[in-house]
Amino acid sequence: MKTELLREYARLAVVTGVNLQKGQKLVIRAGVDAAPFVRLLTDEAYAVGARDVIVHWSDEKITRARYLYADDDLFDSAFPWQAMMFDLLSGEGAAFLSVSSSDPAAFEGVDPDRIRRFSVAYGKANEKFYARLMASRIPWSIVAIPNEAWAKKVFPGKPTDEAVELLWNAIFDTVRIREGGDAVAEWTAHSDRLMRQARKLNDCNFRYLRYENALGTRLTVELPEGYLFAGGSEKDERGIDFIANMPTEEIFTAPKRDGVNGVVYSSKPLVLNGNLVEGISLTLTDGRITDVHADRGEEYLKAEIDVDEGAHYLGEVALVPYHSPISESGILFYDTLFDENASCHFAFGEAYPTCIKGGADLSKDELLARGINAESNTHVDFMVGTSDLSIVGVTRDGREVPVFVNGDFAI
Ligand code: ZN
Ligand code: ZN
Repeated sequence: MKTELLREYARLAVVTGVNLQKGQKLVIRAGVDAAPFVRLLTDEAYAVGARDVIVHWSDEKITRARYLYADDDLFDSAFPWQAMMFDLLSGEGAAFLSVSSSDPAAFEGVDPDRIRRFSVAYGKANEKFYARLMASRIPWSIVAIPNEAWAKKVFPGKPTDEAVELLWNAIFDTVRIREGGDAVAEWTAHSDRLMRQARKLNDCNFRYLRYENALGTRLTVELPEGYLFAGGSEKDERGIDFIANMPTEEIFTAPKRDGVNGVVYSSKPLVLNGNLVEGISLTLTDGRITDVHADRGEEYLKAEIDVDEGAHYLGEVALVPYHSPISESGILFYDTLFDENASCHFAFGEAYPTCIKGGADLSKDELLARGINAESNTHVDFMVGTSDLSIVGVTRDGREVPVFVNGDFAI
C-alpha cells in the first residue's frame, strides 16, 4: 500500500471526518492490528494542533475469548472505568474517531444471549456518551481499514496478500482517495450534493413513504411532523462540520415510531455482532416489529431486537440510489459501514434526535412525544434497496410523488 495514499486517508479522517480543531483532544478507538494506521492518524492530529491524542485499544480475538470462556455473570455489566473515560472526554468536547476493522465471523459460535446481555449493559453504562454522539454534540467519525479475515471474505479465492490489497483499493475508491486526487476537496463537493438532495426531500413535507419491490417488500413508513432528512456533513454543538461515516452515500431521517406497517425484506447479508445474518424479513404493525425471520443467523438477529423495547421499532429511514458508486462497484463488503452506503436501508433501534426540527435540544421524553424512537441501547442498519425498488411519497395534503423509481431517485 502506497504510503502517500495512507497518509491522505489519515488526513481525510482527521480533517474532514472529525474535523479536529486546534486545541481539541482526539480519542481514537481502534483494534491493535490497526496500530500503524493509528500512528499516522496521530501525526495528522498533532499537525492540525491536537491538544492530546488518546488511543483506546481493543482486540476482537481477546473479546471472542472473553465471550467464550469468562464467567457467565460478567456479561451483565460493562467496563465502568471505560464508561468514565468516554464520559469525561466527550464531556470535555473531545472528538471521537473509530477505526473499524472487523472479521465478519469474529463471534461465530458465541452464545447470542451473552452478546445481547453485554450489549444492554454496555449501552446503559455509556448512556451519556452515546447521547452526545447521537445528538451530534461532539464530532465523531468512523473509517475502516482491511484485515486478512475480512479481505478473504470479500475476495474469496484470492491469496491473502492480494485480497488485502484489493480491499484497500476498494476502500480508497469508496472514500474518494486516488493518486493525484484531492480527497478533502472532493468530499466538500460530495457532501454538498447529499445536503441538496436531503433538502429536496424536506421541502416535500411527506406524511408517508410507501415501499414496494419484487422481493416482497410492501411497507408504509409514516414520517413525523418536522422530519429532517440529513446527509453529508453535520454540525457539532459548536457549529463545526464533521462527517460521521466515511464513506457515506445516504440521506436519512427517522420514521414515526408507531407509524410503520407492512413487511420488509433484506437485500444484502448483514454482519451483526460478528455473525452473518441473511434473508431477513420483518413484519411491522403500528411501528412494532411483530415477526422476525432470517434464513441464517436468526438467533443473533432476534437477540439484538430483544435488547430492549426500543429495538422493536425503527429508528432510521435511509435512501441510497441503486446506481451510486459503492453499489455500482458490485462489491459486497460484509461490513455495514460500506454495505449500507450501497443500498436503501432502515435501522431498528434508536433514532438520531437531529432527524427532527430542534431535536438535538429535546429530552428523550420530548422526542418520544414528537413521535421518534428516542430510547434504545442499539441501532442496527439493514439493507433493503434493490434495482426495482419503488418508493412513493404521499404529502400531507394527499398528493403522491414518485421518490424512487427502479431503485433510483426520481426527485
Ligand atoms: Zn444509515
Ligand atoms: Zn444507521
